[in-house]
Amino acid sequence: MKRRDLIKAGVMAGAAAALSAQSQSALSNQPGILTRARNLIFFVYDGMGWEDYAIAQFYSRRVLGKPLALERFLATGVSGLQNTNSLTSFVTESSAAGNAWSTGVKTVNGGLAIHADGRKLTPIFALAKQQGKAVGLVSTATITHATPASFVVSNPDRNAEEQIAEQYLEFGAEVYLGGGTRFFDPAVRRDKKDMYAAFAAKGYGVVKNPRELEASNASKLLGVFSSSHVPYEADRRFQGVDVPSLAQMTRAALPRLAAHSKGFVLQVEAARIDHANHLNDPAATLWDILAADEALEVVMNFVDQNPDTLLIIGSDHVCGAPALYGTGRSYLEGSAGVLLLANQKGTFEFMLARLGNNPSPEQVVELFRTVKGVALKPEQAQVVVDAITKRVYLPDTVRYSVQPANTLSWVMRQTDANKPDLPNIGWNSGQHTASPTVFGVYGRGVAAARIGLIDNTYNFTLMTRALGIRFQNPVMSEQEALEVLKSRAEQPWKHPEDALALV
Ligand code: ZN
Ligand code: MG
Ligand code: ZN
Repeated sequence: MKRRDLIKAGVMAGAAAALSAQSQSALSNQPGILTRARNLIFFVYDGMGWEDYAIAQFYSRRVLGKPLALERFLATGVSGLQNTNSLTSFVTESSAAGNAWSTGVKTVNGGLAIHADGRKLTPIFALAKQQGKAVGLVSTATITHATPASFVVSNPDRNAEEQIAEQYLEFGAEVYLGGGTRFFDPAVRRDKKDMYAAFAAKGYGVVKNPRELEASNASKLLGVFSSSHVPYEADRRFQGVDVPSLAQMTRAALPRLAAHSKGFVLQVEAARIDHANHLNDPAATLWDILAADEALEVVMNFVDQNPDTLLIIGSDHVCGAPALYGTGRSYLEGSAGVLLLANQKGTFEFMLARLGNNPSPEQVVELFRTVKGVALKPEQAQVVVDAITKRVYLPDTVRYSVQPANTLSWVMRQTDANKPDLPNIGWNSGQHTASPTVFGVYGRGVAAARIGLIDNTYNFTLMTRALGIRFQNPVMSEQEALEVLKSRAEQPWKHPEDALALV
């Protein structure tokens, strides 16, 4: 395609020009050099921004009486920011962000360790496996979800999770712990393959609940604990939902991996901070960050005791852009609104499951009272009923808000700027944003690293250097990618509703 055709492509070409300018910025020559590390742990906060951090940090200090482990990390490790754009979009989704980390090159949104033209890329954990490292994936998403999958396999479609489960079997990581039984269970899989039996035949212990996880002596583990994503921490903690916490899964993974003579690589993903932000659910976001913090503490303690381990943390993008807004005269009431989060004992996901397809306004009022500690007026309850039964979502001026949960969030938003009687946290949308995100390293060789603002692809450089791997994946230019995308543009997306899904 000629340049003028690209320009005709409008927004896309505009994005390309802008991204070209960005790629010429000063981010290509980073000085951070790390010592070789035997073990590598990559800890992901999917969809977390600085306001999420600020809210959790305040809540942890004030209500739980202790600073976040993440605060200790930021204070004692080496931290900075990372740009998150994908190859052709300033706003990334999780697979392109995962690819940037795992392959060191930018890709378009939607595929795993692959370029838009089908050229496969080799992800970091596949390279580490070739070196003899043990490999682990731990996530609160389906374990076959984009962020963990992008570190081990290549697939043009991040949503092909049944197939990704088969790729995992072939890849042979030592530990897979997360959600997604529907991609393993022969009763649910479209092809009726029994992936549990296939993993067991390869020597894996297969566990499906917290007790089986604790009781297992298997050296290799497949643990899948929920049909889809692992339910939120708030529901696990307060509503008795029977799944392991991220810290429990992390504690199960570490000794199994550490037993290997050549060391290991592990990704731990706090995946659902992103989902909670898509849904605009303050308690879901808060408690999943606090659960991530417990897992981070487990990991930091491991690194403290095993100093030949490098820990990298990062968020792949911001989602929803929640913010804690100052309230009251001189913002004196700002903190009070956060403390009200203590009344929230569950998530919108939990509430929507309870409400079903045809709830009454009275059921809505009762559930908001018991789960969110919020007294809804009858007309507000009716708005929730309409969202569920008629797909009439609020706020109607912001078309990003496209899921029932966004409406549940809208009806319980703070409206009195002077005296908060509800958490004074607001969202602009339920979608990802372009903001730079947290990035940091802790442990092995970190004293030698100097890091400020990096491109997300630089994580691959850090990881390969730390592991002593020399490898370069093929680079695709934005123009090449745009031409491929344009040739596809006549065909509708395979899943048109993907824009509404949790990505
Ligand atoms: Zn993400
Ligand atoms: Mg993810
Ligand atoms: Zn997302």
